[in-house]
Amino acid sequence: MIPAETKAVRDLLAFYVESGVDVALDDVPANRFADPAMTAAIESAAPPPARAKIEARPAAPAVASPAAPPLPEEAIMAARAAARAATSLDALRQIMSAFEGCALRTTAKQLVFGDGSPTARLMFVGEAPGFEEDQTGVPFVGKSGQLLDKMLGAIGIARADVYIANIVPWRPPGNRDPSIHETQICLPFIQRQIELVDPQVLVCLGKPSTATLLGVTDGIRRTRGRWFTYKADTRDIRAMPTYHPAYLLRTPIEKRLAWRDFLAIRKALRE
Ligand code: URA
Repeated sequence: MIPAETKAVRDLLAFYVESGVDVALDDVPANRFADPAMTAAIESAAPPPARAKIEARPAAPAVASPAAPPLPEEAIMAARAAARAATSLDALRQIMSAFEGCALRTTAKQLVFGDGSPTARLMFVGEAPGFEEDQTGVPFVGKSGQLLDKMLGAIGIARADVYIANIVPWRPPGNRDPSIHETQICLPFIQRQIELVDPQVLVCLGKPSTATLLGVTDGIRRTRGRWFTYKADTRDIRAMPTYHPAYLLRTPIEKRLAWRDFLAIRKALRE
């Protein structure tokens, strides 16, 4: 028989996983009820019986509480100003590490900045980091990334020679889709990253990246393999949507179409 305490812990973990909490942020637990700001917020919202329970808790050492995130419009404006200030990829990385306007940073383990050659002629943009990327701080290192590396190898290009980034640089909890607000807040950062790398060809991996960067909301089956124009501040960049490698892992039959796209990309790089 499972001891009652073990069962309680298992039930609690199952509840966390169902709620999308699938990774521990710290090695030691933080008692949020010991945070005076949090307790005050709960007390003012809680009905009387629950309030009585909270008041009965023994005092515990206080933990620092993160400031409330700014409104989305303010955060978007702050992100635009911060991104504009970056004159190099290193500066942009530092600015993004310090940026507090996107709530995703509080649930992610770390920032997942772009990876690869800062002078790459070919740049890929995915949607958002997954578990492995959150753990390592490097985009596209999980199964999708390994497939992307193989696809690149098939057209004779090494991963180290391209640049890879995501629209959203923090992992959404439980790998959920980033919200519209989160995407819009992070947009100035990926736009600045594209300007700083200044690739000859930009590849949008999947529909969310295509819709966000190219403003094309048709399904990826309609847009993949077609050339669009990405309007950077300084110049126009040739851009092609293709299937996200995660989709190709689930739907391997579509790899033949992705192969066509990659051949077209290689041809464009040689022009
Ligand atoms: N999927 C993405 O869109 N980005 C990553 O970095 C990994 C998986």
